[in-house]
Amino acid sequence: MRLSSHPGALLPAGRAKRVAILGATGSIGRAALDVIARHPGRFEVVALAANRDATQLAALARRFGARHVAIADTSCTDALARALAAESVRAELHAGPEALCELARLAEVDCVVAAVVGAAGIPSTLAAARAGKQILLANKETVVSAGLLLRDALEQGGGHLLPIDSEHNAVFQCLPSPYRHDPEVHGIERIVLTASGGPFRGGTRAALAAVTPDQACAHPNWRMGRKISVDSATLMNKGLEVIEAHWLFGLAPERIEVVVHPQSIVHSLVGYRDGSVLAQLGQPDMRTALAHALAWPERVEAGVGPLDLVRLGRLEFQSPDRELFPCLNLAYDTLAQGGTAPAVLNAANEVAVAAFLERRIGFLGIPEVVAGTLDRVASGEAMDLDSVLAADLRGRRAAETEVHRISDRA
Ligand code: NDP
Repeated sequence: MRLSSHPGALLPAGRAKRVAILGATGSIGRAALDVIARHPGRFEVVALAANRDATQLAALARRFGARHVAIADTSCTDALARALAAESVRAELHAGPEALCELARLAEVDCVVAAVVGAAGIPSTLAAARAGKQILLANKETVVSAGLLLRDALEQGGGHLLPIDSEHNAVFQCLPSPYRHDPEVHGIERIVLTASGGPFRGGTRAALAAVTPDQACAHPNWRMGRKISVDSATLMNKGLEVIEAHWLFGLAPERIEVVVHPQSIVHSLVGYRDGSVLAQLGQPDMRTALAHALAWPERVEAGVGPLDLVRLGRLEFQSPDRELFPCLNLAYDTLAQGGTAPAVLNAANEVAVAAFLERRIGFLGIPEVVAGTLDRVASGEAMDLDSVLAADLRGRRAAETEVHRISDRA
């Protein structure tokens, strides 16, 4: 994958970096805007996009002076038009799923923050890659489902990536620059991704059977959107990140390890042939990764407090409980299988997490839906966007059947 260590990745000096934020109303989008607001003159917010939250989108467009706004759900277009008028914002309004691609391709945009949640982010992330943009990538589901397509789109369009996911941003910071996408060349033996273990670390199967959506979303260290919070609780988030790391850094699955680290201070590590292990540490606050990527290769203030190691006192590391949290192994399995299997895994997981949040299935139903879906849907080649989207759809349909089967049983 073309990472931003590529020499062509630097933007013209002396002018503000022009940014589009897709998923502006979410946890990552708002954290990115928080960092941007700290550096007037360094960044310019050109475009903002969301799915349905017209009110917040219009308020952000007014505050940051965006010239383009996009709303993916067309049933919210009128609401956005009214909200923009109420905020006296004269931005150009784009609507519909294609609207995010339009923003990603705008000639006046240098940098696209890909912060939509889920596979809904695939087309706009690919559009940014093909349009040669610098992509600040939070939307891991795109890499999981369409890793090969994203790699090809970056090659063809000249786009390049900076990882925002805290673990991958940490790995990026611990890699040599420029990174030649070949661990052997750089003497890299392994990557270790850290996982907090989520709110149910050390729990029992009986306790997991009874957890509520609010309990699953109450992450001990990070404040995040509801979908990724549930993924953290099931360890599917770490599974998705293993697949993401494979595509971003070119390591074989057996060289990507997962270690539970409850304090979320060591964000990830890179092990080298000579025995050196480099790690990136910091507070569990996404603004560090966002500031790093927004200002790269410079460093800017992020609003994140200093790390006091003495006060922390102790950092712990444990093996993940793969029996209690089977989603991690399911993700490794689909990575080994290749093709469209990770896209099916991701689609099934999105359906299962939504069903859990709607209280249609219990927490333990999530891995059951994903495993059942992978058994039902055969993997094919992920050669183009149509084949990936078709696999995604097959995964969603099979997962819905699994959800019905499980909820009928209850
Ligand atoms: P949130 O749920 O907080 O926000 C999601 C954003 O995506 C919102 O702006 C939402 O708009 C928009 N969106 C949702 N569906 C669509 C759609 N169909 N079309 C267009 N826009 C859509 O999610 P997070 O910010 O937590 O996560 C975003 C991504 O970043 C995910 O892929 C996640 O895995 C990744 N990530 C998040 C981290 C975090 O700390 N939150 C850490 C690392 C990675 P609206 O508000 O209108 O619904």
